[in-house]
Amino acid sequence: MECVATCRPGLEGVLAEEIRELGGTSVEAAKRAVNFRAGQAELYRLNMGLRSAIQILVPLRTFTARDYDRLYYQARRTNWHQLFRRSSTIRIDVNGRSPGMTNSQYVIHRVKDAIVDTFRKLEGERPSISKGDPDIHIVVHLQGDRVTLCLDSSGIPLFKRGYRVEHGPAPIKEDLAAGMLLLGEAGAAAGLVDPMCGSGTFLFEGWMLMARRAPNLDRGFAFEHWLDYDPEVHAAQRVYLREREVGCDKPVLGWDKDAAVIEQARSIKEAFFAEADIRFTAEPLQQMAVDCAGGLMVANPPYGERMGREEDLGLLYRELGEGSKRVARGGRLL
Ligand code: SAH
Repeated sequence: MECVATCRPGLEGVLAEEIRELGGTSVEAAKRAVNFRAGQAELYRLNMGLRSAIQILVPLRTFTARDYDRLYYQARRTNWHQLFRRSSTIRIDVNGRSPGMTNSQYVIHRVKDAIVDTFRKLEGERPSISKGDPDIHIVVHLQGDRVTLCLDSSGIPLFKRGYRVEHGPAPIKEDLAAGMLLLGEAGAAAGLVDPMCGSGTFLFEGWMLMARRAPNLDRGFAFEHWLDYDPEVHAAQRVYLREREVGCDKPVLGWDKDAAVIEQARSIKEAFFAEADIRFTAEPLQQMAVDCAGGLMVANPPYGERMGREEDLGLLYRELGEGSKRVARGGRLL
């Protein structure tokens, strides 16, 4: 299959590297996306294993359509009934732009009609729409007059790992945290310290990276609702990823001055990373006293927008610099 993994800008390179390592071929970084080829087993494996991707799309058909009627006609020619069941719930999203089709709601509407009409004609009944938790997720990608209809194999975005039950005031998204850690080569660091860890996203992602734990082993994916879904292949890929784990005996340490967010981080750790040795301390970073020589210090500090008053930031950043020298001698600050 031709596949497209989407990501945030700047993470294309690390995502391409991740895809190669997990068995994707013909890997090519694009804009906010990486194109590659994969078989069914690799598609399942990549969904469970990728850290910096948002979703993995499988393009079904690309065609030219300058208006909504042509879009309907082309979408109607797609063999939807060979891809999923009429009892599935579906959701359709649009991205990109088309000069002739500027109303994205109407794009969704026409593609939905095409899918519904296909099933109605062949099977008498139609799939229903679910915006919240659909079985099947379809993405319409517009690029000028070119339209690509894609099935999203992931469904729920891949940054939703399932460990974030509660969260602090300004949590960083899991894929972005993991992507930054990959850019900072956290896997090779002697340890990891987040002096303003909040609910601990960098530390959980960092621990998984160092332990080679796949981040999405146990959650569900849209591909499980496809007609060609093979649960045995899925189970075998889960075992494959489990067997690649190496554990992590490096220090993984978090600080935050807010005792309530540290409590949250601790409860996430207990619930989802029970075997991990990740330590949290409820203290301001000015009091950080720990030796993590050669380690990587990573932080997502207040920057005066979502939190923190701007006039305090100069001092805080200076103290962050001091702290990094004290804690992670010979290491790096990301
Ligand atoms: N990456 C975190 C969010 C960090 S938000 C996550 O994903 O949840 C910034 C955090 O910096 C807040 O939790 C705030 O309590 C903390 N903070 C601000 N000043 C601090 C200081 N002097 N010492 C330690 N933590 C501080």
